[in-house]
Amino acid sequence: MSDFSRLAINQFTTLHQWSLPQAIEGYARHGVHAMGVVRDKLHEVGVSEANRLLKAHDMKVTCLCVGGLLTDSDPDLFRANLDSTRRAIDEAAELDADCVVFVAGGLPEGSRDLAVARARCLEGLAEVLPYAKRAGVTLGLEPLHPMICAFRSCLSTLGQANDWIEALGAGPELGIVVDVYHVWWDPDMEREIERAAGRIVSFHVCDWLMETTDLRLDRGMMGDGVIDIRRIRRLVEATGYDGFREVEIFSERNWWRRDPDEVVEITKARYLSDVI
Ligand code: ZN
Repeated sequence: MSDFSRLAINQFTTLHQWSLPQAIEGYARHGVHAMGVVRDKLHEVGVSEANRLLKAHDMKVTCLCVGGLLTDSDPDLFRANLDSTRRAIDEAAELDADCVVFVAGGLPEGSRDLAVARARCLEGLAEVLPYAKRAGVTLGLEPLHPMICAFRSCLSTLGQANDWIEALGAGPELGIVVDVYHVWWDPDMEREIERAAGRIVSFHVCDWLMETTDLRLDRGMMGDGVIDIRRIRRLVEATGYDGFREVEIFSERNWWRRDPDEVVEITKARYLSDVI
C-alpha cells in the first residue's frame, strides 16, 4: 500500500472548490490525514465544530494560515492585526496545530520605508511571542518571495528569518516555514536551511512555472515547473526535520478550476513520484 503518512495538503490547494468540512472529508476519503487550515474557512464553521470534524476524520492540523501582517505604523491597524494574531494562536492551540504561519506584512499604505516596516514587524513579534509561549503554540515565520515584498511580506529570505529569530532571542515559540516556491531562487538557500536546523516547523511544496502569469496565484503542481523540490526536501531533512511535506498550490487559472477530487488524486501521484 502507498504511504501517505507524511503527506499533508494545505487547504489553499482546493480553496475555491471545498469548504472546510468538505476538505476534511475529501482529504480523509483519499487517505490523506494531515492538512493546513485556512482561517477564513475555519471561521465559516467555527472552531469547535471544525475540531469535531477533524477528530471524526482522524485529521491532523499542520499549520493554521495566517497570522501576522504587523508592519502598520497606524496604531489602530497594528493593534487589530496583533489581536488577530493572538486569536490565531488561541485557535491553533484548540486545534492542536503544529504552528501558525506568520506572514510579516508589506509596506504600509503611502510608505516607501522598508526598514521601518521590518522594525515594526519585529516590535509586533516581540509583543506577541510571550502570548504564543504561554499557549504552547509556535509561530512559523514564512519568508515570501521578494516579488510580493510590497504588499505582503517584507520578510523575503531564510537568512532574514534566521536573523530575526536570533535578534529576538526566541525559543521554540518561533520557528521557520520553508516553502520551496519562496526560497528556491536564493543563492544562500542551502546555507540558510542548514542554519535553520531545529527551527523548521513546516515544509511547503508546489512548483514555479517557467511562464508564470501571476505574482501570487499561478503556482504549479510539483513536477510541472523548474524547482528541484527533492533537493530542497533533502536539505530540509538533513537538518533533522521529519515532519510533513505539505502541498500548497494557489492557482487561479488551473487547479482552483479543476474537480477537487482530481486535484487530490494528482497531488498523491506526484507525491509518490520522484519529484518530491
Ligand atoms: Zn507556504
